[in-house]
Amino acid sequence: MSLKLSSRHGWVKRSELRSMSVECEKVGGVNLSQGVCDLAAPEPVRLAAKAAIDGGNNSYSRHDGTKALREAVAGQYRRRTGLGFDPETEVVVSAGATGALYCACLALLEPGDEVILFEPYYSYHRSTLIATGAVPVFVPGRAPDWSFSMEDLQARITPRTRALILNTPSNPSGRVWSCDEIAAVADLCRQHGLFVFTDEIYEHFVYDGHEHIVPATLPDMRERTITISGLSKTFSITGWRIGYCLAEARWAEAIANFNDLVYVCAPTPLQMGAAAGLNELDDTYFIELAAKYRKKRDLLCSTLTDVGLTPCIPQGAYYVLADVSSLPGASSTERAMFLLRETGVAVVPGKSFFTGPEGEGIARFCFAKEDEVIEEACRRLHKLPR
Ligand code: PLP
Repeated sequence: MSLKLSSRHGWVKRSELRSMSVECEKVGGVNLSQGVCDLAAPEPVRLAAKAAIDGGNNSYSRHDGTKALREAVAGQYRRRTGLGFDPETEVVVSAGATGALYCACLALLEPGDEVILFEPYYSYHRSTLIATGAVPVFVPGRAPDWSFSMEDLQARITPRTRALILNTPSNPSGRVWSCDEIAAVADLCRQHGLFVFTDEIYEHFVYDGHEHIVPATLPDMRERTITISGLSKTFSITGWRIGYCLAEARWAEAIANFNDLVYVCAPTPLQMGAAAGLNELDDTYFIELAAKYRKKRDLLCSTLTDVGLTPCIPQGAYYVLADVSSLPGASSTERAMFLLRETGVAVVPGKSFFTGPEGEGIARFCFAKEDEVIEEACRRLHKLPR
């Protein structure tokens, strides 16, 4: 018998998001592709993690997270939304929001179950579904605001539909779902008995008076919603791998068991750092965070407009989808490579976010960068031939 890869290996490809970072490194460019924020982590977060390491908190935590972090997460939701989650049974700390979604899919979906995703989608959502045997079904979004029609959504619901993934604020479109939209989707979920997996990792990155609505707060939604978020973005600690989900105990227990199997636990001292951040940073931190990122968004978007790459102005998160159809190339990858060659700015080709050809004239620019990096990227973008 010859050695061979499993039939599963083809289900998960290397993410285009990572490929562009590799290309960028080769030419020493400015990387606006991957959503890696290079800003400093807040001091209380860093100090508490260091103190935990120095104090010997270096072993496994409980499989669903340290008591301190579970309590801090539940406390934050109670304060912000009025929703009560029991930190003993209804909060699962995982290896990032990515780990929480993976474990939730393993715990709640059967192979062959259909799960609705909204385009443009975050490629890890699609891959997580495929990797766990579920079948993603896509609802198209329409530029420039990437709204979808309820008819399109309804048309995709079949007897096999089990759940939908709701990412607000959304990567890559920056769309912040309105209360009415979430309520309409919630109605549909009640009608058809569907789960909602949310991805609210950008919940604190909301601009221009838009408001992040926590879907689990809508009537009857708590019982069917797996609320997923994390601290990667909020505290600029993407490498720490700290995320979580909140769900009713009957779901959370099974999700936690998969978390135990796959990760054993999230890194214990880093959980301590995240808990300190949630407990010690007040509203000012979150308000200033959004204001800081809005400035970055505005700088990047005005440059993109100036150089003829019209941006869809994001309402939240920290990415901009821009029209790069005027750049030479037959595909979004060729256009992104042209941009990298001409300006040294790396972006993600739009095809990564769509199943059809809609993304071929689009690129995603990430603005989770220090101001100087964005300024340098903008200077370079001005070099584009007009
Ligand atoms: N969800 C979305 C929508 C993202 O854009 C990202 C990172 O880019 C993640 C999840 C990853 O979150 P975590 O680092 O908590 O796994």
